[in-house]
Amino acid sequence: MARTKLNHDSYQIGWICPLEVEQIAAMEMLDEEHEPLEQPSADHNVYSLGSINGHNVVIAGLYQTGNCSAAVVVTQMRMTFPKLKFGLLVGIGGGVPVETDEGLVRLGHVVVSKPTGEHSGTVQYDHGKALEGRFERTGALAPPPATLLSAAQALAVHRARTDEDPVWANIQRIQAQRRRLRRYKFPGISEDYLYQPSYIHQTAGLSCEEGGCHAEQRIERLADEDDESYIVVHRGNIASGELVLKNAGLRDLLAHQHRVLCFEMEAAGVLADFPCLVIRGISDYCDSHKNDRWHGYAAAAAAAYARQLFFHLPVEAVPK
Ligand SMILES: [Zn+2]
Repeated sequence: MARTKLNHDSYQIGWICPLEVEQIAAMEMLDEEHEPLEQPSADHNVYSLGSINGHNVVIAGLYQTGNCSAAVVVTQMRMTFPKLKFGLLVGIGGGVPVETDEGLVRLGHVVVSKPTGEHSGTVQYDHGKALEGRFERTGALAPPPATLLSAAQALAVHRARTDEDPVWANIQRIQAQRRRLRRYKFPGISEDYLYQPSYIHQTAGLSCEEGGCHAEQRIERLADEDDESYIVVHRGNIASGELVLKNAGLRDLLAHQHRVLCFEMEAAGVLADFPCLVIRGISDYCDSHKNDRWHGYAAAAAAAYARQLFFHLPVEAVPK
């Protein structure tokens, strides 16, 4: 079947996903895939083109994680697709186990950037360097575009008033029972555990079970029922920095200091000159026990949320 081929000017929304696992999830969310377009030789990005609910979208991956490569990818993407208006930065992130209006932040939940308190929705907590275990915060990052904040709010209202969660339904687009997509399966709430902040992972290179991390060091949390048919979404500030955070003490210190719900590594680079909504599926707790068991499902949850926003975008803001 011949795929639609549009021109570069037809695309107004960029969807940036740093990791391969996130890019696959993003593509599973498209209603339609479009023919690739030619691109300048200086542009090394790999794009996937398509549409969701009539809105044309460019999906771009990053060849490595981090703010610097994210900034380069976005700059090139905007040169090749000059009509891009705004973006979605979609992928996994490390959660802060705090309580919001939606309950505790847990693995498999989604955190979406929203200006809160003194912050614009995203906080760059480092400047590429740590100062004696503390981070100097630099300038404020641009807030998410108003159109996307409105869409996020409209989606929240819609989800509160319907029985079947459309975000959950979107996750089902990824057929996790298929061998190659197996990593997107819901791991189960029994695989979500949180250790005391002071308790360090026992054996590097081995899982908590194999390496002898003690179960009694896990924090007892009231389990919501093991209900995967509703995706919990928290909205608030997201911290962006260059470091892979694997330290629960530092996590809690920074989270308290900046009132953030989640840590990630690309927003500061992307937001430097491209207005974006940041959407992160929580795959770990930024501590020394972090592993990749939840990567697939968390990536799927973030992509599923992003897809649903396209049903709440006003048509006049992004002409079809
Ligand atoms: Zn461990």
